[in-house]
Amino acid sequence: MAEYIAPIQKLIDSFRRLPGVGSKTATRYAFAALAFTDEEAEGFADALIGIKRDVHRCPVCCGLSDSEEPCSICRDSLRDASVVCAVEGPKDVMVMERVRTYRGRYHVLGGTLSPIDGIGPNELNIKELLERVGEGVITEVIVATNPTPQGDSTASYLARVLEPLGVKVSRLAYGIPVGGDIEYADEVTLLRAMEGRKRLD
Ligand SMILES: [Zn+2]
Repeated sequence: MAEYIAPIQKLIDSFRRLPGVGSKTATRYAFAALAFTDEEAEGFADALIGIKRDVHRCPVCCGLSDSEEPCSICRDSLRDASVVCAVEGPKDVMVMERVRTYRGRYHVLGGTLSPIDGIGPNELNIKELLERVGEGVITEVIVATNPTPQGDSTASYLARVLEPLGVKVSRLAYGIPVGGDIEYADEVTLLRAMEGRKRLD
């Protein structure tokens, strides 16, 4: 297949790294970028570099922070520190924030247990969660992993390790299909799932 001149081909190849972008779309994007003013191109490149330079892992919840300090949710003293919602990824924090009545904190697990893929408890941010629980403030952990077999086994595992420490572990009661993704649940569904959460034991 014929290639475009190097600077354009390089941008096409870069866009192709994005999920769901094939060579046709990548080519369209590259030519759209070619029409950018110098200022627009700099803004675009700067935004991309900025997510590597300015996004840090929150030292408390393992979610995303815009500094090396704890994130805005962990710093918010008005939020209930006794309730923690455990989610799979940093994106899921914003998903759960759609439930505006939830005023607890979060913990980002960094995935789900999946022995087949070699992902055990040590590959997730579970040690960090246990350390937080060890501080004695957390009384409930609401597990909001996706309703998949891995999400379920992660929830069961968390119940097994946290209940003996006196922490109530509950799981969202999903109104979304098994195998679905909380990302696609609307606010009302998430609110019902949160309110109808079931204790795991
Ligand atoms: Zn945080």
